[in-house]
Amino acid sequence: MLDAKLVTKSDATQQTIVHLSNQVAIGGQKVVIFGGPCTVESMAQMEAVASSLQTAPVQAIRGGVYKPRTSPYAFQGMGLEGLEILASVRQRYGMPVVTEVMAISQIEEISAYADMLQIGSRNMQNFDLLKAIGQANKPVLLKRGLSATIEEFVMAAEYVVSHGNPNVVLCERGIRSFDPYTRNVLDLGAVVALKQITHLPVIVDPSHAAGKRELIADLSRGAIACGADGLIIECHPEPEKSVSDARQALSLPDMVQLVHSIKPVAEAVGRQVYEFQRQLVVA
Ligand code: PEP
Ligand code: MN
Repeated sequence: MLDAKLVTKSDATQQTIVHLSNQVAIGGQKVVIFGGPCTVESMAQMEAVASSLQTAPVQAIRGGVYKPRTSPYAFQGMGLEGLEILASVRQRYGMPVVTEVMAISQIEEISAYADMLQIGSRNMQNFDLLKAIGQANKPVLLKRGLSATIEEFVMAAEYVVSHGNPNVVLCERGIRSFDPYTRNVLDLGAVVALKQITHLPVIVDPSHAAGKRELIADLSRGAIACGADGLIIECHPEPEKSVSDARQALSLPDMVQLVHSIKPVAEAVGRQVYEFQRQLVVA
């Protein structure tokens, strides 16, 4: 692993636990599930998401407000207005939120609203952004680059940790290959390897890996069986109307059903799921 010093394991039992809130920790006995749309689109959309997921149980909400789109003509995200929607849902439903940071200039603003900062695949080797996020005071969700090797991924995490932020969660989200049938190839081998190499929590995003909603439930269960510390899954109140990544968005009932199916798999590999009933925090 090149010269990684801080993120590699010194012994097999070493494990970092990243706290998202007083109640939610990633990397411990319990697997953590993040759910939400690719893109924050409206307050009504996020209300629908949070109210169905709150008791699912899903422990954290995802939703992009600064979106890395392939086309410059595609919707680029709601920006600050989207952050305000996330903050409102976060407070009213008592659920932590994660959202993507695309630029150094966004770190301060997003840190004021979100519990966790996502570095997207397209920025996994944006070294200046990694250094700056290393100085942020929030946990980081670092997604694997579209074609990044395991070593490059580990070294990207080393950038963040060596610049001062130890709270990094790795996310395997599929890698590019030759077959267009799936959007990417979910690399569960990398999940197993990363768990052996690093003490950082590793979660799986089956949505961006598969690109097709009908593949996501089985891949989610497979990921937990392979030792992943959690899942981040895209879902939407009206999946076909999603402004981005519609083909991979689960309906909310399908998301709830999937989440309930994780429990026996987690238990089979010595893990648990969160079952607490969250208390509503009223504004
Ligand atoms: C996302 O999480 O919506 C996203 C853009 O993911 P990735 O960076 O893995 O493509
Ligand atoms: Mn997406």
